[in-house]
Amino acid sequence: MISHAGLAGSLKGGGKKANQGITAITRLLYHNQIPVYRNKLQQIRGRSRPDFAHFLNLGGAGGNVSSGKFSKRVYNGSEGRDAMRYQNGKRYYTMSQYCRTRYGGRIVKVPLLSGCTCPNRDGSRGSGGCAFCSFTPGNISKEISEQYREGCARLLPKWPDARPVAYFQEGSNTHLPAPSLAILLGQAAALPGAAGIRIATRADCIDREKAEMLAEFQQSHGLPVEIELGLQTVHDRTASALNRCHSFAEFCAGFSLLREARLYICVHLINGLPGETPEMMLESARAAGALRPGGIKLHMLHLLRATPLAARYAQEPFPLLSREEYVSVVCGQLERIPPDTVVERLTGDGAADALIAPLWTRNKRAVLNLIDWTLARRGTCQGALWRESEPVQIR
Ligand code: SF4
Repeated sequence: MISHAGLAGSLKGGGKKANQGITAITRLLYHNQIPVYRNKLQQIRGRSRPDFAHFLNLGGAGGNVSSGKFSKRVYNGSEGRDAMRYQNGKRYYTMSQYCRTRYGGRIVKVPLLSGCTCPNRDGSRGSGGCAFCSFTPGNISKEISEQYREGCARLLPKWPDARPVAYFQEGSNTHLPAPSLAILLGQAAALPGAAGIRIATRADCIDREKAEMLAEFQQSHGLPVEIELGLQTVHDRTASALNRCHSFAEFCAGFSLLREARLYICVHLINGLPGETPEMMLESARAAGALRPGGIKLHMLHLLRATPLAARYAQEPFPLLSREEYVSVVCGQLERIPPDTVVERLTGDGAADALIAPLWTRNKRAVLNLIDWTLARRGTCQGALWRESEPVQIR
């Protein structure tokens, strides 16, 4: 058994040592797969034969795909993964497909404020926050139950067949001290009709006690607990320039604690961060995929009013990705993540009134359509270039 400290330590040196460390993490995490995959895949096993042919025969993703590298070796120990098929004519594993399996149908996430802050704003790790972030911590004026009631009243009429999931979206929710987190979970457990809980946080706000508490809650209440972790980039130089106060090695350590606790983990990445090339963005997706997260959210960088990055941009504009450039990167990223990682988001929509640029992100439908069209034109799909054991290149 490799200790997390050992893994993190081996990453610090960079280069070959770092690659060995990441490969070790990948192996460690891979062999602690979340049972939900097995349940999900057991359900689809037998229903359809393994078949990527309708993707692979289209040509264009290169010899790696058409030479049949979706082999038993790649899917070692998870026989059902060979049966992964994307539904609704998509070439990636959508959230709605996942929800049908895990929740039995559609869900609606009801945003709730826990009153947490963030270690990058309260001085525990840094101050001023990440350069792109507009989150402002503050006291909550309404009880969780009241927020939930109001959220359900607002959202459920739009999707009457959906089940609500309590979504602690803002800030770093597991930065709450353990006793406060326990109280929050208790409140969430009492929400009527909640199908599950989602908690957004930073990986450096996870320790063993909190990971076990979350796992215990999931087991004792029979409610899925899903964690969203902001990674944004695997490149520490970029992260440092954005005042993330958070390294990729630290991310891996927190991630592995959650994985050991058998919780679903969704990783967030941002494309178009200043100074990053498309190759670096592809590398972030590949490295995140190598950790075998349950889900991934891909975003375009939004320049939002009253953020340090917007101020920097006003003084010295830096290039932003065009819609076509973004789509090209996203399609490449989809090819490099595992076929069974849920693609929870392919384009974000920052608050419309706070968005400075790029304005093309406002038309989400156009972005999604262009992604579908580009994947089809390239004859490729999610996972087409994914290889389980490739080491991660950190810059
Ligand atoms: S992005 Fe997350 S970690 Fe960074 S300042 Fe905002 S809430 Fe904190």
